[in-house]
Amino acid sequence: MENRNKLFLLLMVLQCLLVGTGANPTGSKQSFFGRHPAQCGYEGCPRVKENMLNVHLVAHTHDDVGWLKTVDQYYYGSRSSIQKAGVQYILDSVIQELLKDVTRRFIFVESAFMQKWYLEQTEEMREIVKNLVNEGRLEFIGGAWSMNDEASVHYQSVIDQFTWGLRFLNDTFGECGRPKAGWQIDPFGHSREQGSLFVQMGYDGLFQGRLDFQDKSNRIAQQTMEMMWKTSDSLENSELFTSGLYYIYAPPPGFCFDVLCNDDPFIDGPYSKDNNVKEKVSDS
Ligand SMILES: [Zn+2]
Repeated sequence: MENRNKLFLLLMVLQCLLVGTGANPTGSKQSFFGRHPAQCGYEGCPRVKENMLNVHLVAHTHDDVGWLKTVDQYYYGSRSSIQKAGVQYILDSVIQELLKDVTRRFIFVESAFMQKWYLEQTEEMREIVKNLVNEGRLEFIGGAWSMNDEASVHYQSVIDQFTWGLRFLNDTFGECGRPKAGWQIDPFGHSREQGSLFVQMGYDGLFQGRLDFQDKSNRIAQQTMEMMWKTSDSLENSELFTSGLYYIYAPPPGFCFDVLCNDDPFIDGPYSKDNNVKEKVSDS
């Protein structure tokens, strides 16, 4: 469970040009103090171009709700000698970056941290965040209190902690706060029952990270990293779109620009003699 309290790039490169910027911080044409008509969910996805490979780039994070440090230590960033991790700073900076560009997207998982952060915000910031959620630019995935283990827990505890997290999202953000995808990228192994619970809770899909290494290499060879998973023998319509992440939660080699990483930055200055765009693109 190495923690990675930082932004990682899920998929490389682009084609997500939602046009139209407004004069207010959310980029909407309406005031961010008024509630926007919901454009979340699939309605909020960037328009795709026909006859092209459309690749979406989605920044994400996974934050352990207590592991090497306590929940508060993770949230506030204390005890950094144990681990450099401060979730509050992720949310602070992500919101500011989302506001700079309407095409940016961010997905967030653990409602325990979202609730902690949200409670500390001003009314104005809460409205800004609600509007980002309504516009589909900030999206919750998973959305349980934490990203639960799948091996040693009882199914009832899974349901309980999903109930608690989803209730917070629903009470706070309404329909646009409802996660559509499961996001179990750090549990060490996966259970069929967890998949079945996602189906029964109304999720449309599931992303996993830590596949068995033989299963994973076979899937890569067979091009079956994505599948329709039959999650139950006894329930009808139990199929769930399920996908495994290629690098778990890490960026591709050479693309980690976090403060904890040593990869070279992406230098795209058109007049810089150190411009390395071509090199980066061809290396990837
Ligand atoms: Zn973890």
